[in-house]
Amino acid sequence: MNFKASVLTLYPDMFPGPLGQALSGRALERGIWDLETVQIRDFATDKHRSVDDTPAGGGAGMVLRADILARALDESLSVSDPRPRFLMSPRGRPFTQSEAHDLASGPGAVIVCGRFEGVDQRVIDARGLQEISVGDYILSGGELAAMVMLDAVIRLLPGVMGNQESGETESFEAGLLEHPHYTRPAVFEGRTIPDVLTSGNHKKIHEWRMAEAERLTRARRPDLWAEYMKEDDVD
Ligand code: SAH
Repeated sequence: MNFKASVLTLYPDMFPGPLGQALSGRALERGIWDLETVQIRDFATDKHRSVDDTPAGGGAGMVLRADILARALDESLSVSDPRPRFLMSPRGRPFTQSEAHDLASGPGAVIVCGRFEGVDQRVIDARGLQEISVGDYILSGGELAAMVMLDAVIRLLPGVMGNQESGETESFEAGLLEHPHYTRPAVFEGRTIPDVLTSGNHKKIHEWRMAEAERLTRARRPDLWAEYMKEDDVD
């Protein structure tokens, strides 16, 4: 069965957007994944089709109503739908490469995109939405976050990436950032390519790349480096 993404949003026209181009776009055309958008506003009940209201307790902004979002979920999904349900949220657990792998091996994902100040807590609880964040910054809505998450998953689906190996040395896959890359020309503005990479010695090349990956990870991401050192001790 193919990976199916259902996205609940107030801005369905934003999709597929960038996901309709390049690698993910070709995969969409080839039917490797499937995209459905659900307009949350279609489930509003009043004549103004309003979906938000003022926050209980006061304060700035508006809150997406629980009853309307619940109806959108209930009426657009079957009760036996096995897909995990997510709410994009800066409060959520951080999305990671390992979660991208987990999702890529499953049936798909249901993704709710928040807007305004956020979503009424009761629908998050009542429908068991898993809150997922794409980083420690605030976006104006969940749509770009959903696209980030989907893009990371789609490129891992079987048949999407041509060169399987390019996936395996990627940053985060081995708990390290990736080594630097070089290609022709041999000299660019007086800068050369490290000799080892043109030596043809594959063992040396592998060692150099590994050393660079470790150096960069240690310098730039002490958090990843600490994890990596811990795992090393276990082996
Ligand atoms: N008041 C909220 C932010 C609301 S931003 C707070 O302080 O936590 C509006 C919507 O954008 C959110 O409901 C969420 O769906 C989305 N969003 C914003 N930043 C995000 C992030 N870093 N990761 C995932 N979704 C995000």
